Amino acid sequence: VPELVEVESARALLEARTVGRTIKAVDAPDAWFLKRGTTAAGLRDALRGRTITAVRRRGKQIYVDTDGGEGPTFGLHLGMSGRVVVDGDEAGDPLIYASNRDVPAWRRFGLRFADGGAMWLRDPRRLGAVVLDPSESRLGPDATTLTLAQLREALRRGARAPIKAVLMDQSRVAGLGNLLVDEILWRAGIDPARLASTLDDDEQRALHRTIRSTVRLLLKRGGVHLGDHVEARTRGGRCPRDGAEMERRTIGGRTTYSCPAHQH
Ligand SMILES: [Zn+2]
Repeated sequence: VPELVEVESARALLEARTVGRTIKAVDAPDAWFLKRGTTAAGLRDALRGRTITAVRRRGKQIYVDTDGGEGPTFGLHLGMSGRVVVDGDEAGDPLIYASNRDVPAWRRFGLRFADGGAMWLRDPRRLGAVVLDPSESRLGPDATTLTLAQLREALRRGARAPIKAVLMDQSRVAGLGNLLVDEILWRAGIDPARLASTLDDDEQRALHRTIRSTVRLLLKRGGVHLGDHVEARTRGGRCPRDGAEMERRTIGGRTTYSCPAHQH
């Protein structure tokens, strides 16, 4: 599943390769893929003749601005298997969890540029989305720039939920998914089932540092599946740090692996 790291790769590709290009035509063949009242006709009317001027990201959501903010913005979400393709090139390493074949029916949304090139959002599983003029207020602060004060506020508002559920709630902190949160809590030595309210001041600081450093590390490695905790995500898997047998639970509705020896 594309998490923050993969979405950032897609954003960087879009920024490098579409900013400054003018939209000649919009292809939105799959009405299911258009969400929150967005229609193919609405996208065509809004975007034709516009020039892309910025590509932003907050959590797992990509925002594309046109005409220097004077034109409409549209949102792209990669869902479970989405991939951005610009002039035939794709972002980052091949995904390990989705087919990389280019089947025309998987092209859910595309822009053709006045200079002759094109971009596509390809999504075999069809769980991504395109939204015209998306609301940007539903998401919490982005995990890559999260401050200690913002983390404390998220923990305060989610005090009665397990720490793992709070970190995965996109309205509290945007960008952290299942693999990334398990990796962070494993590195921080915090039991994912603990209630958010039980973290003391030192633990909050340690968690904040670990969120920032883990996200930075995995952005550098190029994928959330390249963390050190991932190899232990299997029945009978052992903690890479101390060799203890990992514990498998469902927390916040998601399969969770943690180490009973060093995560408390
Ligand atoms: Zn351990």
